[in-house]
Amino acid sequence: MAAGKTDAGDSAGLNWRAEFQDSALEALFRRTMQAHDACQMRYALWVAAGLFLAFGLTDYGLLGFGNAFFVLIATRTSVALACILLALSLRKRPALAQRPLPINLICLLGISGLLLALPLRPDTPGIQLASMVAASMGLYLFVPNRLPWMLIWNAYLVTGFVTLMLLWAPLPGALLATSLLLLGFVNLLGWMTVKRLSQLQREQFASLLEERAINRQLQAEIEERSQLEERLRYMACTDDLTGIANRRRFFELAERELRRSRRDGSQLVLCMVDIDLFKSLNDRHGHAIGDIVLTTVAGCCQSVLRETDIIGRYGGEEFVIALPQANLHTATSIAERLRERVASLSLPMVPERNPLSVTVGISRVEPGETRLDPALLRADQALYDGKARGRNCVMVARHGPSLAAVEA
Ligand code: GH3
Ligand code: MG
Ligand code: MG
Repeated sequence: MAAGKTDAGDSAGLNWRAEFQDSALEALFRRTMQAHDACQMRYALWVAAGLFLAFGLTDYGLLGFGNAFFVLIATRTSVALACILLALSLRKRPALAQRPLPINLICLLGISGLLLALPLRPDTPGIQLASMVAASMGLYLFVPNRLPWMLIWNAYLVTGFVTLMLLWAPLPGALLATSLLLLGFVNLLGWMTVKRLSQLQREQFASLLEERAINRQLQAEIEERSQLEERLRYMACTDDLTGIANRRRFFELAERELRRSRRDGSQLVLCMVDIDLFKSLNDRHGHAIGDIVLTTVAGCCQSVLRETDIIGRYGGEEFVIALPQANLHTATSIAERLRERVASLSLPMVPERNPLSVTVGISRVEPGETRLDPALLRADQALYDGKARGRNCVMVARHGPSLAAVEA
């Protein structure tokens, strides 16, 4: 869309006919206006049919039953029927409102009928002029979106009127000139009014389209932002490598569980899981393989947990697990299952002679503990005791330093 600021018509990219210069845009406008145009045209056609028939009564008053009356009444009936036919067709096919042919036929019939009445009816020149003015205004105002055709049909109306006046009832020169001036003024007025109306409609349509485009853009930006926010939230909570919760998220969720367990009086158990001799695995196979192993072990841990359990990457090759509503016995069997599953993992890049294993330290959150740290510390201690015992085992911290080992 053009964006000039000087002229209202220019700003919407309109031509002299007050139509969009861009033909695709004009077609879109017309499609959008189709139902409205059809409705307006239907009313105009019904009014035209009514008026043509109503003037038939005055024909009788002026002419009585005679040849002129019958010619006029036949003409009026044909025009009225044509108007009614098109009005009815428009209800079923609104697209007809924008086709030139049917409306041009009606205009041809209607204007010719009107001109025919001039020599047949003994009206005064004043009445004849008034009927021309009314017809001209009617053409401009009630036939939508057809400025060039309106100019043509008005030219036919004025030319026909002047010709008939000259042929049938020669008016004094001054009266004819006055009639011409009046009709010229009416045409100018009609043209300017219709042009202004078309311009306003199209400008409004252009702003509507612009507004919709801006709305769509805004919608897309909002969508993009919310996706970005979602992604940021995900990144803030998730460990990049393994896809499980990061340390921050783990503590957020585990502390929520701690509060719940304190409210319910239920148990909460924490497990620290550490991959055995991971440094040497890294040294032997490289960090890329180390990363794959880390991700695989994280997935393995997740696979043995219940839906309500929480797992997070504590740091390096260590994972931390919170088991809500689990006692030490349940926690031990879950940890044991986890240890066995890791030990039975067969990774093509890890040779059988150096199998993968984890050591797990377990501790229960004791009644009265309001933070996770003491239990974590005990689980960590149990983990190191497990390492000292030779790794690949599950160690339970029981009330301080006393420990029980579940050997591999
Ligand atoms: P231990 O059995 O006593 O736990 O021995 P370890 O070798 O597993 O323990 P240590 O703490 O000596 O080494 C941990 C290694 O984990 C060192 C570090 O390079 C490696 N590591 C930590 N984070 C990552 C990671 O994100 N990717 C990889 N590939 N390695 C990591
Ligand atoms: Mg470690
Ligand atoms: Mg380790």
